[in-house]
Amino acid sequence: MNTKMMNIKSELEKHGIKPTYQRLCVLEFIEQSQDHPTADHIYENLVKKIPTMSRTTIYNTLNLFLEKGLVVPLTITGTEVRYEITTGQHHHFLCLKCGRIYDVNIQCPLSQSKTVDGHQIQEIHGYFKGICKNCLN
Ligand SMILES: [Zn+2]
Ligand SMILES: [Zn+2]
Repeated sequence: MNTKMMNIKSELEKHGIKPTYQRLCVLEFIEQSQDHPTADHIYENLVKKIPTMSRTTIYNTLNLFLEKGLVVPLTITGTEVRYEITTGQHHHFLCLKCGRIYDVNIQCPLSQSKTVDGHQIQEIHGYFKGICKNCLN
């Protein structure tokens, strides 16, 4: 097992998840993906490498990761759920042409406040949609 896989393994263990080979591969794929993949996207890529991988395994694994706080779901497109590794809260830009989702680094003016209109804030999600710089070129 290489260093990268060892790190992924300890990441799973830190979250109380038994590091099976399939879970390692799912987490590795999400981590190296620049594109906030869907469950189907993860499946289609991993089944090439692991022919025994099933869609059910992918869904079960993603649900487990969600439950343990290892990944977060993005529902930016409204028709699918995309996943990313839990990092600091940041906003997202969806390209309407290529479908890619980019992380964008801007500070929300409300990010430091604990409340909005008297409601307690627990999470802030910002979605931008448009044409990405790659598609504009
Ligand atoms: Zn694009
Ligand atoms: Zn992101």
